[in-house]
Amino acid sequence: MTNNKPRLLTGDTPTGKLHLGHWVGSVENRVAMQNDYDCYFLIANMHAFTTRATRFAEIRESVLDIALDYLGAGIDPQKSTMFVQSDIPAISELTFFFSMLIPFSRVMRNPTIKDEIRDKGLGDNYPFGFLLYPVGQIADILAFQPEVVPVGEDQIPHLEMTREAARRFNQIYCAVDSHINDSDYVKAGGLFPIPQAIMGRTKRLIGTTGPDDHGNLLKMSKSLNNAILLSDDPDSIKKKVMGMYTDPNRLKATDKGQVENNPLWVFHETFNADKTWVAEAEERYRNGSIGDVECKKQLIDVLVEIIEPMRQRRLQYANDMEQVLQILRNGAERANAVAEKTLKQAKDAMAQLY
Ligand code: ATP
Ligand code: MG
Repeated sequence: MTNNKPRLLTGDTPTGKLHLGHWVGSVENRVAMQNDYDCYFLIANMHAFTTRATRFAEIRESVLDIALDYLGAGIDPQKSTMFVQSDIPAISELTFFFSMLIPFSRVMRNPTIKDEIRDKGLGDNYPFGFLLYPVGQIADILAFQPEVVPVGEDQIPHLEMTREAARRFNQIYCAVDSHINDSDYVKAGGLFPIPQAIMGRTKRLIGTTGPDDHGNLLKMSKSLNNAILLSDDPDSIKKKVMGMYTDPNRLKATDKGQVENNPLWVFHETFNADKTWVAEAEERYRNGSIGDVECKKQLIDVLVEIIEPMRQRRLQYANDMEQVLQILRNGAERANAVAEKTLKQAKDAMAQLY
């Protein structure tokens, strides 16, 4: 499948199911961009092994869940290519070469790596391969030579490393002048475009639980148990919203409430299309004339309306898993054609075609 549309690549680690953070951070953009871009969506199963190598059966389940989540969210396998990372050997080969272009200290300074070690409680008990994953991600991306990469805020440091690796590769192996503008690398003979991040309307959606020990509200995350899933049924949505963290100092509806840093209002502002209601209700919340329960009920309706059509479409695909596997195999075939070509070009540039 070759076409002249600009290329787009992004992906998700199969460590659970997709949630509302993915929707506003990236998936919503992917669905919208399917017609105008040649899209590649990678399920990064090898990266799931960085934190759960012993839980391989769960990783498999999660790969299929994410494929279903994509299809439910409206990614169309006729238009877009979705595939599993380990089906693309060229990515692993490229990882080795790119790992030489990124200093070790540079990986250790990556703020997303530091946050993950803290938030996932990894201490100093993570495998060597954990530090390899941002480098692997450089290969995930550049194997497809994409112009754009829709991601959430936490991926910006990884994408910046990818851009550095692309510049360095082009400078060292394709003799591109280092003073050139990012947008001119390919024109000047570089193999890799310097890809641009595209951020969603919410860069970092917080989760449904309260702050951590340092007082920070954590981002909604598959592995932190604070997510509302794109596959949640109305009952689960209700339970999660009813139990969600709000203003801990507000004990009754007549207490003055805080709107800032309150997941209830962050969610209303992000998902409720009725901006007038939100503005009025926030004012009433501030002066203690509206209850949490009323605001939560409103939020449940809003979220069910967004999620339920996705869940229904997902259920239809889940009834025919053989079809879903076939979609992934077809995707791998198309993705391999692109990645193999990139690998060959890269080896050629490095004078390693024999
Ligand atoms: P994990 O906890 O296993 O790291 P995750 O929930 O962070 O899972 P990823 O697979 O790491 O999900 O991220 C997939 C994409 O979704 C990335 O582009 C990431 O930036 C984006 N994303 C994830 N969580 C959020 C969020 N809460 N808000 C906005 N974007 C998000
Ligand atoms: Mg993550």
